[in-house]
Amino acid sequence: MRTTALTANLIQLTKLGMMNAYLVREDDGFTLVDTTMSAADGLMAAAATAGGEIKRILLTHCHGDHVGSVDSLRAKLGPGVPVLMPKIDAGILAGEPVLPPAKKRGSWPKVKTKPDSTFSGGDVIGSLQVVDCPGHTPGHVAFFDTRDKSLIAGDAFSSLGGLAVPSRPHLRFPLPWYATCNRPQALLSARGLRALDPTLLAVGHGRALSEPSAAMDQAIAVAAG
Ligand SMILES: [Zn+2]
Repeated sequence: MRTTALTANLIQLTKLGMMNAYLVREDDGFTLVDTTMSAADGLMAAAATAGGEIKRILLTHCHGDHVGSVDSLRAKLGPGVPVLMPKIDAGILAGEPVLPPAKKRGSWPKVKTKPDSTFSGGDVIGSLQVVDCPGHTPGHVAFFDTRDKSLIAGDAFSSLGGLAVPSRPHLRFPLPWYATCNRPQALLSARGLRALDPTLLAVGHGRALSEPSAAMDQAIAVAAG
């Protein structure tokens, strides 16, 4: 697990060079955003090294490479550390259908852990504001840190091989496009996230970008073109 301190409040944890989770510093410890796969020990060790414990687990969406360590984290951390999921994706994970025009794409693994609660756009969890950005998955959200305007965007953008919106295949890293349930909607959501004027863009796959507005504009223009 590679650890990159992005801001005073945000640490990026990277598994196998390509899957990111994040530790967000709060007064009581850390909020873990996403879990990569088979990484419970590494995620917990990273929190300890950074001087705190994981106090809650949030997910940007419920694809396998984001929920992949939830069950092992639950087993190791116990039920006192709540797992919170975006409402619509939690339903899909539990077997509810994906409503058209979205299609069920990407990996939706069996997860034993039931969410302790669900959230959607407008909710506030600690310092993080939940922002709906559906498209990659129907319930996909981003987390906007109100302290410094950094944005954890999950797979609404990816930056492996250059910043891209998953509404269109990106030749150097087409996986997010392949797994995107509603591609036109993903483009609309990318515009919505850009309008937040984040100071830092942290994504599910690839490095984080500081002062990302120009790069986001370009990625959106390419996706729309
Ligand atoms: Zn995904």
